[in-house]
Amino acid sequence: MITLDSDINFLPGIPTVYRKKLKNLEINKVRDLLFYFPTRYQDFSKLIEIKNIPANQDVSIRGQILEIKNNFIRRYKITSALISDETGNIKATWFGQTYLSKILKKGDWVILAGKTVQTKSGIHLSNPIYEKIDPQEFDSNHLNLMHTGRIIPIYSQSQKLSSRWIRKIISGILNEISDINEYLPENIIKEHNLLDLKTALSQVHFPDSMEKAKLAQQRFAFDELLVLELLVIKEKIKNSAQDSIAFPIKLEAVQSFVKSLPFPLTDDQKKAVWRILKDMESPSPMSRLLEGDVGSGKTVVAAIACLNVIKNGYQAAFMAPTEILAIQHFKTLSKIFAGFNINVGLLTGKQDKFMSKKLKGQPIEISKKKLIEKTEEGEINILVGTHALIKGKVKFKDLGILIIDEQHRFGVAQRASLIKERKQKKTYVPHLLSMTATPIPRSLALTVYGDLDLTIIKQMPEGRKKIITQIITEEKRQNTYDFIADEIKSGRQAFVICPRIQENKDQKEKKNSSWEDVKSATKVFCHLQEKIFPNLKIALLHGKMPIKEKDKTMQNFKDKKYDILVSTSVVEVGVDVPNATVMMIEGAERFGLAQLHQFRGRVGRSQYQSYCFLFLSDGSSSNERSLALVKSETGFAVAQKDLEIRGPGEIFGTKQSGIPDIVMSALKDIELVEKTRQIAKEILISDQHLKKYPELSKRLNSFKEKVHLE
Ligand code: ADP
Ligand code: MG
Repeated sequence: MITLDSDINFLPGIPTVYRKKLKNLEINKVRDLLFYFPTRYQDFSKLIEIKNIPANQDVSIRGQILEIKNNFIRRYKITSALISDETGNIKATWFGQTYLSKILKKGDWVILAGKTVQTKSGIHLSNPIYEKIDPQEFDSNHLNLMHTGRIIPIYSQSQKLSSRWIRKIISGILNEISDINEYLPENIIKEHNLLDLKTALSQVHFPDSMEKAKLAQQRFAFDELLVLELLVIKEKIKNSAQDSIAFPIKLEAVQSFVKSLPFPLTDDQKKAVWRILKDMESPSPMSRLLEGDVGSGKTVVAAIACLNVIKNGYQAAFMAPTEILAIQHFKTLSKIFAGFNINVGLLTGKQDKFMSKKLKGQPIEISKKKLIEKTEEGEINILVGTHALIKGKVKFKDLGILIIDEQHRFGVAQRASLIKERKQKKTYVPHLLSMTATPIPRSLALTVYGDLDLTIIKQMPEGRKKIITQIITEEKRQNTYDFIADEIKSGRQAFVICPRIQENKDQKEKKNSSWEDVKSATKVFCHLQEKIFPNLKIALLHGKMPIKEKDKTMQNFKDKKYDILVSTSVVEVGVDVPNATVMMIEGAERFGLAQLHQFRGRVGRSQYQSYCFLFLSDGSSSNERSLALVKSETGFAVAQKDLEIRGPGEIFGTKQSGIPDIVMSALKDIELVEKTRQIAKEILISDQHLKKYPELSKRLNSFKEKVHLE
């Protein structure tokens, strides 16, 4: 008797080689096999009489083989057969499959399904799929067809397992299997019009109609999403049950800090600050995600959170995804905290020796060892850095809050380990504030970012203008240079972004390589300096430069010692140079949509009108992503578009996380995400340990093993 838990080793008719292949696909049990879903379907459900066969279409016919033989035409091995039904004859040909003449014999009854082609000698069936049928059943409507005459499932070709073979095995199991335990509660199935598990399994493989196939897929998407939501919400409940430190709001300090800023906070910034301070007033750990478009002013919100923690006598850790950004934050924080008796430290990766801290005055450079010591002693109030900050040797005396900036740049696994490692003391968990400029729909963020609460800054600081974005063709290049020269004349600055650092020797030699035309930062830098703007001050910045040099270049650009900064993508996130108004991007097709939006966000950070000019390597004016950028002004619109183009897996770095594809694509369906989230909440409110739902609980545990969210 076969059940879902049967080992595939006990299934009859699977040769050892195939068992191995299945193992490689992590298919060990009957369950795994039944949940190995087709990637698509082909509709061969309409049987057509031979006399009515149209050219160039997918068709199925039913008939008898009158003749079958192998021909060798030059190097090609061709098998051809003549098939007949009551209405006429048709020729079918197969290429390179001479074994077929041993399987299909003259006189056999078959169904053939495939594409028809028009040739000089009439319409032929080309490489059709075949299925032998019993002539006794020829006219019966109860044919148990697998490969033809119906909607057939097509499976992924991995491990070179043919769809034909998989169909046979799965069909056999579906016929034999005794019980399939439903794990969803009946009321949920009824309420949401879901197929029951058994029906869904048979329809997902051998659907009666495309609608049924869709319903089956929906049922499984629902299941997986529900389990994901259950997991996420359970984690959240668990986290909030941990102990943290309650930090009363130091209103006076906060107010005088806000007063000291050169600008008033926007309403959204104020709301976010309040929310965060309120969170930290309670002894359960804050886990909040601050979502706000590029340039919306998240840094200062985080700074206020840090200030409040520090004024309560605890420390803050401020983490950035790149060194350049860490240095920038270090400088910004040193400046805005100058009058508040706060020591700021900077710690970057282990190869780089640049470390410095500000002890009531100018930044000074101290050794890494010293810096770590001073952090341990509590003398450093806020330590800024890359992820070196939390890894390895650094132990804080009393860490009260961890800030993760541009958190989407850290992969899911990395993020999870950071969140874990923030807990440095056995007795309490520090508060967490994560920030991102990827504004995705709320329910999606709550799902993908798991246990985080969400605050969104929708408003931009006052006086910002829409950034004029254009794709520039090669003929207009000179005009753009003239335009940049004018901007610089009136005191502004420009970024020029290139996809690569240098010409690659190998690729240079390779003629016609698509990389040929891709601009390198070094080359563009020389060209601009020598040929285009000999009188302007231009700097080059890329990731391979020593950190001190990177820092000096960035600082000099900020201090207007340069007019133009030619850079690779190292300035993608966070970099803040409000005086820059032009962002020119070479080889724009080489960058993702979200990345382009981030680049664009480097300008438009002041009251000046700003511009983003996109150049495509082929000099043309069209490219899906670039056009999408031109059309989408806000980060929200960009994120929506990005979701369509790349899908959630790429965006959230969850591709390797073990979350099944079916969930990944279901995440695009925001309504479904919301629905399952709601149901998961209801289930957990009434039954936190899923005692009433043992099957669901089992699924949850196996999902947990697969998915590396934690
Ligand atoms: P992001 O949200 O992308 O991290 P930043 O925090 O870097 O944005 O802020 C972008 C720029 O806007 C900075 O130069 C910052 O000083 C400035 N800024 C932040 N808040 C305001 C505000 N309320 N009014 C005016 N400028 C602001
Ligand atoms: Mg930022």
